[in-house]
Amino acid sequence: MTIRPQRGLEKIQTYVPGKPIREVEREYGAQDIVKLASNENPFGVSPKALAAMRGALTDAYLYPDGASYDLRSALAKHFGFALNQVTVGNGADDVILHVSMAYLDEGDEVVTSRSSFPIYDIYTHAMRAILVKTPLAAGHRIDLEAMARAITPKTKLLFVCNPNNPTGTISTKGELDRFLASVPDRVLVILDEAYAEMVDSDEFPDGLAYVREGRENILVLRTFSKVYGLAGVRLGYAFGHPKTIAPLFKVKPAFTVNVLAQAAGIAALEDEEFVRFTVDENRKGRRYLCEAFDRLRIEHAESHANFVLIRIGPKAADVQRALLRRGIIVRPCVAYDLPDFLRVSIGKAEQNERLVTALAELLAKR
Ligand SMILES: *Cc1c(COP(=O)(O)O)cnc(C)c1O
Repeated sequence: MTIRPQRGLEKIQTYVPGKPIREVEREYGAQDIVKLASNENPFGVSPKALAAMRGALTDAYLYPDGASYDLRSALAKHFGFALNQVTVGNGADDVILHVSMAYLDEGDEVVTSRSSFPIYDIYTHAMRAILVKTPLAAGHRIDLEAMARAITPKTKLLFVCNPNNPTGTISTKGELDRFLASVPDRVLVILDEAYAEMVDSDEFPDGLAYVREGRENILVLRTFSKVYGLAGVRLGYAFGHPKTIAPLFKVKPAFTVNVLAQAAGIAALEDEEFVRFTVDENRKGRRYLCEAFDRLRIEHAESHANFVLIRIGPKAADVQRALLRRGIIVRPCVAYDLPDFLRVSIGKAEQNERLVTALAELLAKR
């Protein structure tokens, strides 16, 4: 007799995160390692969040506020919502889990795009819901028309990642307006805007505007992991209609956001200077990398985020390992259905230069 995990797990492909720096040190004996694999903030933690966490350390013996009242109030105030329109989680990943637990019945359908964030797939399977994936459109962009066509009477959730990870592309306001007009009220659309702060384009829609209009079937997901430099602390949040948010509080683990994360989030929201600096540097890094890729004739998707998807070809895995031996960690895209591609996070100027130099040498040998 063996103990069988529940059937949903049979379909789950375990999430493989970007390789940690320590692991590369152990396995490759490399030093001075650059991690450009997980879209972290290369400039570190928001200084205001860091100071707030230092101050909160002595409270670590107390359970955190399970309702995250101060943090949710700060988020509500900052973005102009009521308290009952905000939820928080131990990373946006955790909020995706809460949404899946709160809304999915066995056999419900969940529509996502191919080559998008794999966490959607994992929790869909865990709830024994049915995953429906639509292909990408030209330019590695999410095909909202295909997603609309994939909706059936069984569809419950639909995930739109904007900008999309790992392609970095955006869906425009016109495209999203048209799409949302065609989505039935009984389908909850989760707009995952983990990289919203980094987008320059005038065509980028502010998902929060749909929530402000009072739409009940839209949830906007954001995170402190990227622009605020708090990936290691784990803090994500979402805004929606009070009726849509309420079920999430039933399933959320009681103390899912810890004492340090709550303090960090409140302070980070005030750290406009760090956000501005990060966004400016990221814009420069993105321009530098994209120009270098063009020069090296490396095809890349149009990035609006803090990473760039590049096409290496059938040798992508070899190039990724060769970069590791040089102490540069980038992300393979096999798990994103893009085996010929690598996803490179935008780093500090000197890190970007190191990546470009290494790629130029490796690809010259192709
Ligand atoms: C990084 C990321 C998240 C958020 O991650 P957390 O660290 O769990 O907050 C969510 N969605 C996408 C698309 C991401 O890339």
